[in-house]
This record gives sequence, C-alpha cells and structure tokens, in this order.
Amino acid sequence: MMNRRQFVYMGGAALFASIPNARAATYDLLIKGGRVIDPSVGLDAIRDIAIAGGKIVAVEADIAGDASQAIDARGKIVAPGLIDIHTHAGRSKEGPALLVQDGVTGWVDAGSAGADNIDQIATVARTGPQVGRALVNIARTGVISPGGELHDLNSANVALAQGAIARNHDVIVGVKARLSNNVAGANDLEALRRAQEAAAPFNLPVMIHVGQNYSPMRAILALLKRGDIVTHMYAPGMNGILDDKGVLFPEVTAARRRGVLFDFGNGVADHFDWDTVEKATRQGLWPDTFSTDWSVTSRRPASSICRMSCRSSSRSACRSARSLHVPP
Ligand SMILES: [Zn+2]
Repeated sequence: MMNRRQFVYMGGAALFASIPNARAATYDLLIKGGRVIDPSVGLDAIRDIAIAGGKIVAVEADIAGDASQAIDARGKIVAPGLIDIHTHAGRSKEGPALLVQDGVTGWVDAGSAGADNIDQIATVARTGPQVGRALVNIARTGVISPGGELHDLNSANVALAQGAIARNHDVIVGVKARLSNNVAGANDLEALRRAQEAAAPFNLPVMIHVGQNYSPMRAILALLKRGDIVTHMYAPGMNGILDDKGVLFPEVTAARRRGVLFDFGNGVADHFDWDTVEKATRQGLWPDTFSTDWSVTSRRPASSICRMSCRSSSRSACRSARSLHVPP
C-alpha cells in the first residue's frame, strides 16, 4: 500500500516521464490549500506553501508551478514546528524522535538533570533530530522522584551549576528549580535564590515548578525576574495562584506585567485542576505557553491514556513514551 504522499509523488513522476523535454520542477515541494497559521507574521489563512532547496520560498493564496512533490493539505493546519519548553526528552536518546511525530521541532528538557548528570542530556540535545536544549536543575542530582531533590539544601550548589552551564553553554538555556513541598519543603525560597545566583552571570532565565508549595506564591514570585517562567501555573493549592475566595493574588498579575511568563505545564493530576483553570482564566490569566512536561498521566481513564497521548498508531512508540515519563 502506498500512502497519499507517495501516490502524489509517483503521479508527478509519471506525468513528467510522459512529456518529452519537461522542464525541471520549479519547487521541490508544494503544500496546497492548508490553513496556514504563522503567529510570527500574524497569518491565519488558507494558503499554498512552496519549498525549494530546503527553504520556504513562497506563501501565497494560489501558487502555480511544478513541484517534484505535492501535499493536499485541505482541511489541515499547516504551522511552523512546535517548541515544547517543558519536556524530559533529553533523558533518553529515543526521546527526541518521539516528539517528531507530534510536530515538535524544538524541545527543552526542563531540569531532568543537574550538574552531576547534565552532560548526558547535553549530548542528546546536540544529536537529536531537531533543536534540543536543556535547563540545568539547581539540585546537582537532577530530578529525584519520589523523594525530592531539594530536601537536602546542600544539593543546590551554585558553583557546580555554573560549571555545568559553562561547559554546556551551547545547549543550556536556563536553570530549573522544583519548588513543591514534596520536592523542596521549607527550602523552596533559598533554592530559588540559588537558582537565580547560578543563572545571573550567564544572563539566563529560571523556570520554577510550582504546586502545593510550602511558601506563599507571593513570596516565590517576588524572587522572579523578567523572562523567568512559572510552569504548572494552574496547580491547585496549597499556596497556588488563587486566594481562599478564588481570587488571583495581585502579585500574579504584577509578575506578568513585569515580564514573568506563565506556562501551562501539563504534568500530572496535581499540576492543574479545572477549577483553578476556570477561575484564573475568568480573571484573565491565560498561559503564555503550553508545554507537556513529557507526561501522559494527566489523562483519564488510564486505558485511553496511550491512545490519546500518542497519536502515533505504533504501540511500541507508545510504550516508549510511557516508559520515558518522568514522575512529577
Ligand atoms: Zn517536568
């Protein structure tokens, strides 16, 4: 069985073969009739896209001309590659390949590893089939789950984190600190201060994972600068973004105003709940970004998790995705 793309390609080849002196195709690939969404230029319209020499050479309503290959994209969305800013894809060399099937052409491993083990993640980032980057965990061990990597504050070693950034400066784009009570307990604020200290000489952002925090959200947000990221933004309490009456703390909107970014961070069940999502969005707090946390466990019921999360029909790919899941 040939798929549609092969069929179109072979149809084109047959056509050229039957016409003597057929001139060479103008384009290598023509994507016809899709709904093209490109936020970088404010475009959301039905367009054709022509590609030649590995580059997009035309985006127009109706592109005439020959192409070696054509794709009928009517009824489909055609968009630039997606960037998932909170994954754990770098933990395994199989990880990046799994993202390709979902249109993810750029990923960030968000703190799977710290100074002790980041070099392995950096190698995966450098060799993956798409653009890969990593956040170094302020805890030298990286994620420890269950247990929590910041219960021993000695693990949050600024000098070691800076050394890790210096030797992997090409792929490390920030510092990660997981601040949940079950990860950091009462060490949350000091761990975040150290994360900022590690990032400062390199002018890098810090991403914090929040949810059921020991310290109040206002104390946590006070330590964030422009460009820093709050992932799992809709995590329910304790010490989430809403007060006891369901009203957003003023510090949340103030943080957004000064350039702190809020990321959905799919994660697991205690990383968001719909009650928090509805109350926060009604008050205007929508996400800046949607990331996946490389997780399939926020879907229910369990029997449908694999089918829904792995759009690939490949069962082995689905199993790999599940085995790669990093617990909260
Ligand atoms: Zn994560």
